[in-house]
Amino acid sequence: MFEKVLIANRGEIALRVHRACQEMGIRTVAVHSTADADAMHVRLADESVCIGPAPARNSYLNIPAIIAAAEITGAEAVHPGYGFLSENAQFAEIVEAHGLTFIGPTPDHIRLMGDKIEAKRAARELGLPLVPGTDGPVTDEAEAMKIAREIGFPVLVKAAAGGGGRGMKVAESAEGLREALQTARAEAKAAFGSDAVYLEKYLANPRHIEIQILCDTFGTVVHLGERDCSLQRRHQKVLEEAPSPAIDAADRARMGEIVANAMRKLGYRGVGTVEFLYENGEFYFIEMNTRLQVEHPITEAITGIDLVREQIRVAAGQPLGFTQDDVRVQGHAIECRINAENSETFAPSPGLVDTYHAPGGLGVRVDSGLYQGYRIPPYYDSLIAKLVVHGRNRNECIMRLRRALEEYVVGGIDTTLPLHQRIARHPDFVDGVYDIRWLEALVANRG
Ligand code: ADP
Repeated sequence: MFEKVLIANRGEIALRVHRACQEMGIRTVAVHSTADADAMHVRLADESVCIGPAPARNSYLNIPAIIAAAEITGAEAVHPGYGFLSENAQFAEIVEAHGLTFIGPTPDHIRLMGDKIEAKRAARELGLPLVPGTDGPVTDEAEAMKIAREIGFPVLVKAAAGGGGRGMKVAESAEGLREALQTARAEAKAAFGSDAVYLEKYLANPRHIEIQILCDTFGTVVHLGERDCSLQRRHQKVLEEAPSPAIDAADRARMGEIVANAMRKLGYRGVGTVEFLYENGEFYFIEMNTRLQVEHPITEAITGIDLVREQIRVAAGQPLGFTQDDVRVQGHAIECRINAENSETFAPSPGLVDTYHAPGGLGVRVDSGLYQGYRIPPYYDSLIAKLVVHGRNRNECIMRLRRALEEYVVGGIDTTLPLHQRIARHPDFVDGVYDIRWLEALVANRG
């Protein structure tokens, strides 16, 4: 096992990785920008190295500085967390080229799944059902028009290099397609440096269902059930739950097995998530994430498996030590992503946290680097905390969520806690009847 791991990230996920390492007797190295000198992950880590100024491109994306930090401190492995360099195949290669272990899949698998067009091709070969759409990139307007008519409007123009819900444009009709192509291309070029786009049928009222997988390097592949991430705003997840209220045990077992077989064929290692849209009883692959996800704690809650610990064990060459038969889904879990944003206008709200009280009690977990007196810097993602609750069943989980949200106090800044309170009390949510458009409508109706 490693003696020292460098955590190439910040915020709650850096803390999350630190916690797993501590429990395994592994020492940690935090890296940070000048803006994060007071961050909790820096305070808790055994060692810390400043890797550059506030803008992420000069610090958390600064590969030479991160490698130098690993070499100076004698770290043997690098955990990338999510976001930043976590899906950068070149970073994984550079880490390995320096004789360090990248805690994640192979660079080839990161590259394959990072290009959504290639990912869909691979998914088809691996036997996963796809959303109807183009086989490759669309470059020509006339060709796009022809394909869109074949698939049927509305269609979605998506960036091959897309992520975070960006570079996606809906075209309702032939007239709208030209503009959608142009804007999606321009957005994709600006955000991801590539203007390659493709078309997909725009599904009307799907749910977002994703399956967590975990693989060692000895051919053991397990799936850990699904997460329902349909509550989204601007294609970004807001609240997730596991299991999905829309999936039964038979579907879970069937899709889990299809995905596990695909990963076995691929020879995948570590953790990964295969994302689907689910409509009228059918699953449609949209993409695969080759990293730990923000919402991984709800899977941990219902399976009792520490995903970060397993990631580190697999990276160190250890076998999983359990099989599919050992995996049990128990109870129900919900995660709320709490952002430093106004809960009605969604305007960012960085600044001083002058009061802080986190909820606790049975079945309540808070993953956050917040503390009283902490100043949230304006340079990074607005996610400041994840509230994860677990109950023996969905009803208990929702009751527990409501009381945990009531207890939670974050003073001095605006947060999305009020939005979560609204969702947790809404009859549609309580009944589990919502799709990927439901939250957008709720937010719009506020006026
Ligand atoms: P990203 O990588 O940017 O997160 P995804 O492909 O994972 O993009 O899609 C994000 C979200 O966008 C989905 O959860 C869903 O809400 C919506 N979406 C993606 N593809 C489609 C589609 N073909 N039809 C309808 N909604 C879609």
